[in-house]
Amino acid sequence: MEKPQLSIIAPLYNEAEAFPHLVERLSKLMDSLSLTLEVVLVDDGSRDTTALMMRQLALLDKRYHCVFLSRNHGHQLALTAGLAAARGTEAVFVIDGDLQDPPELLPDFYKLYQQGYDVVYAVRRKRKENIIKRSGYFLFYRLLKSISYIQIPLDSGDFALISRRVVDVMNQMPEESRFLRGMRSWVGFKQTGYEYERSERIAGESKYYLKQLFNLAYNGIFNFSEFPIKFMTRAGGVSIGIALIYFATVIIKRLFYADIIEGFTALLFVIILFSGVQLMALGIIGEYVLRIFFQSKGRPLYIVKEAIVEGKIEKPQNR
Ligand code: UDP
Ligand code: MG
Repeated sequence: MEKPQLSIIAPLYNEAEAFPHLVERLSKLMDSLSLTLEVVLVDDGSRDTTALMMRQLALLDKRYHCVFLSRNHGHQLALTAGLAAARGTEAVFVIDGDLQDPPELLPDFYKLYQQGYDVVYAVRRKRKENIIKRSGYFLFYRLLKSISYIQIPLDSGDFALISRRVVDVMNQMPEESRFLRGMRSWVGFKQTGYEYERSERIAGESKYYLKQLFNLAYNGIFNFSEFPIKFMTRAGGVSIGIALIYFATVIIKRLFYADIIEGFTALLFVIILFSGVQLMALGIIGEYVLRIFFQSKGRPLYIVKEAIVEGKIEKPQNR
């Protein structure tokens, strides 16, 4: 059969509660559009009935293309698997499975795509999450923007319409610790933002706990910025400068006023301070080494257990 024009990708991890709502809204959307579409659902090793429901759906409705991962690989890798499986010839629309990103915006995004934009990314106008999460995101995006070597747009997540040629490039990027919104910016071409209001989760609970959020932020910073390591070099330079000035003043004092009493406290303070600086520097170097270590293993990014395409069960194609 012919490949669809567009693919909609949604990663799902224990989304049994949200699933019926998701399918209802996606089916309605597909019915209303004159484009040929497929929906790529990626089961990220769910422990509830998500996978079961996906199977039933994909065997009945050929527009649903399902990919089942061998275990929980995390949101970014589930999306990576979705991007690789998507067959849309024109573009791929990435959404969250909990309907926080309204799929009904697809026609608006598609219009911008037709105007020549390769990437249309959604920019959140308002978040309906708790204050801690909101301020965390706010600070993170601003920090990342100020230290990153590529322009990563503020307040935009993975929700986006991405053209086929950009998806092809992203599929070829082998990096292990993935920060897709950064990779998407890195590819370039014409990109634009689309403002929207992020809704609340339709059902169930967030699977992004503080730990996962920190991991994501970490990947963003260490993969898209040289700032931490440059900062350490500079801080080292500054501290050597301070030490030299201090040393010079001690000598001058010794020469002109013989009666100096040097403080023991100051010594202790300096030792503690700079052992801290050194430990931190080592940690930062360690971060980069760790990334080289993981990357050098060259393991597949994720493992597909099974896929159902156009109602047919397929053997795994792992990369
Ligand atoms: N998700 C996933 N694997 C995970 C965690 C989350 O595929 O390990 C999916 C989840 O099912 C949802 C999307 O990624 O469709 C976003 O996750 P969530 O809503 O929990 O994050 P939040 O919106 O709270 O940041
Ligand atoms: Mg969510």
